[in-house]
Amino acid sequence: MNASLATVSYIGATILFILSLGGLANPETARRGNLLGMIGMAIAVCATVFGPRVTSPGYAWIVGALVIGGSIGLLAAKKVQMTQMPELVALMHSLVGLAACLVGFASYVDTSIEFTGAEKAIHEIEIYVGILIGAVTFSGSVIAFGKLSARIGGKPVLLPGRHWLNLAGLLIVIWFGREFLHAPTIEAGMTPLVVMTVVALLFGVHMVMAIGGADMPVVVSMLNSYSGWAAAATGFMLGNDLLIVVGALVGSSGAILSYIMCRAMNRNFVSVIAGGFGTGGGAPAAAGGGQPAGEVSPIGAAETAEMLREAKNVIIVPGYGMAVAQAQHTVYEITKLLREKGVNVRFGIHPVAGRMPGHMNVLLAEAKVPYDIVLEMDEINADFPDTDVAMVIGANDIVNPAAQEDPASPIAGMPVLEVWKAKTSIVMKRSMASGYAGIDNPLFYKDNNRMLFGDAKKMLDEVLAALKS
Ligand code: NDP
Repeated sequence: MNASLATVSYIGATILFILSLGGLANPETARRGNLLGMIGMAIAVCATVFGPRVTSPGYAWIVGALVIGGSIGLLAAKKVQMTQMPELVALMHSLVGLAACLVGFASYVDTSIEFTGAEKAIHEIEIYVGILIGAVTFSGSVIAFGKLSARIGGKPVLLPGRHWLNLAGLLIVIWFGREFLHAPTIEAGMTPLVVMTVVALLFGVHMVMAIGGADMPVVVSMLNSYSGWAAAATGFMLGNDLLIVVGALVGSSGAILSYIMCRAMNRNFVSVIAGGFGTGGGAPAAAGGGQPAGEVSPIGAAETAEMLREAKNVIIVPGYGMAVAQAQHTVYEITKLLREKGVNVRFGIHPVAGRMPGHMNVLLAEAKVPYDIVLEMDEINADFPDTDVAMVIGANDIVNPAAQEDPASPIAGMPVLEVWKAKTSIVMKRSMASGYAGIDNPLFYKDNNRMLFGDAKKMLDEVLAALKS
């Protein structure tokens, strides 16, 4: 393939990636968006492999890498449970960071292209910045993986003087950057490069360890953004325009997503990243949840079915527990049945419900729930006072009234779905255990709240059976 055909293919792939991102913005067009992205990626890989920069002796290596990487990816995608998706994504971000680091070191020791004067300085800055972003992305994503998969506790680890530690790290990175640029030989430049890499790795660990509980969604999307910038940096180091463009697309869309999530959670982006809980210096989440603070009134499946049958307006609020129980199909069966009986059933989706952005939308789409009855939090929150039954399925933090009522709560200020304003709220979960943020939920003790204890799938099957009988 000659150079101009490769360039045209790159432009085509870039357009497909932009269309793909546009498609992913809406559930109705998301499938098409994914397909366009896959076609774009196939074109990009072919144009690179068969392009002018790869010579035939390199093909064996590339095929070998494709087979190994492709098989691992295929196996992981087949094996992974929907609830483990965020961990897998975090792990993949870490690989992008690792790749940026490795490419950086390889470009530095590669003497096949001679750089002189300003070009040399620019190339070295690309390497230094690329490895810096890559190392932070790598170690931060590994820690995020550990937290999301509960291998590391979710509690924020706040070292004394942590902001000073970060500042010291930044100064060391700047100082060694200067040393690196002035190094007379590759051997002499290696020491500052390695020192900076170690500092960046430690910074990534420190940054994500300091973020706890309900602020993790922002970290996940922020690391997504970092992985994009790491890829763009790799593009600069390799002189690959497509990688620069794609990296910038991922980096900026991840940054926009982080901003949207911060706004949805009423968090200040800088304070989330600086660690601990953002606004007002709220206390870190207590591990294992607080002490139960009152009496709860349980309800059975048959009584729940009775209440649903007699209701005019029902809002269903799904959360992480629905994903764990894989209850989305039964939820839709119940919805269909109630709608046939003339009950107005709608879904209220919190922006950080579940464990990844859009988690609930994906599950409901999989169960074929019509999009027009799936509403965002802002669209539906005002309707709770006119609702007969608000049914909470495996959700906890996103319906916690403490966010509004208790200024000392770690989630104070986070917008929540106001299910307690409905005539009756029914919370379906297995026990009194806390959710991801590790805090008690006063909703459970409200007079108009009932608890339907049990696995969401099992309980919903019983409710469905009772509705049919
Ligand atoms: P939560 O984690 O607050 O609560 C989920 C509840 O589901 C638990 O209290 C649990 O209670 C219950 N549950 C678990 N398994 C089952 C089951 N099989 N059947 C019935 N219930 C079950 O989830 P939410 O969706 O309410 O909130 C999301 C939380 O996750 C927020 O704190 C958010 O910040 C955080 N987060 C979100 C991310 C995102 O991008 N969306 C990423 C990372 C974190 P029990 O054990 O008693 O059954």
